[in-house]
Amino acid sequence: MKPTLITGLQWGDEGKGKVIDLLADKFDVTIRFNGGNNAGHTVKVGDTTLHFKLMPSAALHGKKVLIAQAVVINPKVMLQEIDQIKQLGVKLDLGIDPRCHVVLPYHQALDGASEASKGKAKTGSLGLGIGFSFEDRTNRAGIRMEELVQPTVLREKLKANWDLKKRRVVNAYQQQFPLQFEKVYQEYVAYGRKLKPYLLSVAEYTLDHLPKKRFLLETAQGFSLDFVFGTYPYTVAYHTLASSALPDIGLPPMALNVVGIVKAYTTRVGNGPFPTELKTKIGDYLQEKGHEFGTVSGRRRRCGWLDLPILQHAGRLSGINSIILTKLDVLSGLKTLKIKTAKGYVNFPGWQEDISTVKRWDKLPVNCRRYVLYLEKQLYVPIKYVSVGPDRRQTISRK
Ligand code: GDP
Ligand code: MG
Repeated sequence: MKPTLITGLQWGDEGKGKVIDLLADKFDVTIRFNGGNNAGHTVKVGDTTLHFKLMPSAALHGKKVLIAQAVVINPKVMLQEIDQIKQLGVKLDLGIDPRCHVVLPYHQALDGASEASKGKAKTGSLGLGIGFSFEDRTNRAGIRMEELVQPTVLREKLKANWDLKKRRVVNAYQQQFPLQFEKVYQEYVAYGRKLKPYLLSVAEYTLDHLPKKRFLLETAQGFSLDFVFGTYPYTVAYHTLASSALPDIGLPPMALNVVGIVKAYTTRVGNGPFPTELKTKIGDYLQEKGHEFGTVSGRRRRCGWLDLPILQHAGRLSGINSIILTKLDVLSGLKTLKIKTAKGYVNFPGWQEDISTVKRWDKLPVNCRRYVLYLEKQLYVPIKYVSVGPDRRQTISRK
């Protein structure tokens, strides 16, 4: 069966967590396949709100959730999220590919030291060590999950890296290196022991089960954070492009059903270009009404209008078949809305009604529908759902 891929068409935080939670019941298995604990998804179930960084958002549904090889694992964060799910009394059926790389404390030390040395040219890294873990992965110096769970191998690999990393922090970046080898080693041996039961060859499992099971693939971050096609160097250190799901999971070339998630306005966390940014009261309005704070960083997200040329480009390179539009409710109350096109801004009259309890498309204010229909026309694929609030039930289907 053709897998469905959920991908963000902006700078992440489009509401993928909610969408995956919404759609999870239609699938047997969901796979998270890129990034690390620098990605945050918010999942709201009833009165409980959970923030996942590594755990696939669908874990709350008691279904099989998998983490593919291109996710770098911070074992401490992974274990915290496993505990969170277990405490809710939800049965956890989690598989982690043994090829996943481990984020180690020296990656965090390097990350912090590197940002500190950059001054004004900071990329806005959170210091979580994700980029440096990907650097080691590419450079063949990394430690994989399959090695984390073997204490003797782990010691060797850690030893081979340790002094080089220390010298880089102290000599190249001229920062402190406060870590002790034996302490880190013991801590990570313990993590390995706890995570060993979850190891599963995700690539092979997926290939084996594709003919009979329905797979949902979830991308972390968004298109414009792709380290090649996004706003480099203000990006993450890996691909977030939809088609990267194939090598990132370990699948042969195949067609996917690609669902692009678009927030009804634009946000971005951290530094880098943002042509439609609103450094005005309207920007503050979106920020406050949309609770635009980073799930991981807690930083205020920068807010602005939609940017059609970027969205069209993202949609085309992602091969989207349909769109889910989120956070439309946040735009209520504005007098005029704008969308940037290649020629300039197009203005739309706003709507004043609260739409967060609307259940049907034809009950939305006419100006609201006009805004959505314009977008749909410009992005060439159907907008199948419109989301008007964080709750699963605050979703309007257009089928
Ligand atoms: P992700 O990274 O794409 O999964 O998105 P995040 O979870 O980081 O950020 C999206 C935020 O918007 C979360 O706090 C969601 O609960 C919230 N959210 C999702 N959909 C909607 C919506 O339609 N309306 C409103 N008001 N909030 C939403
Ligand atoms: Mg997020």
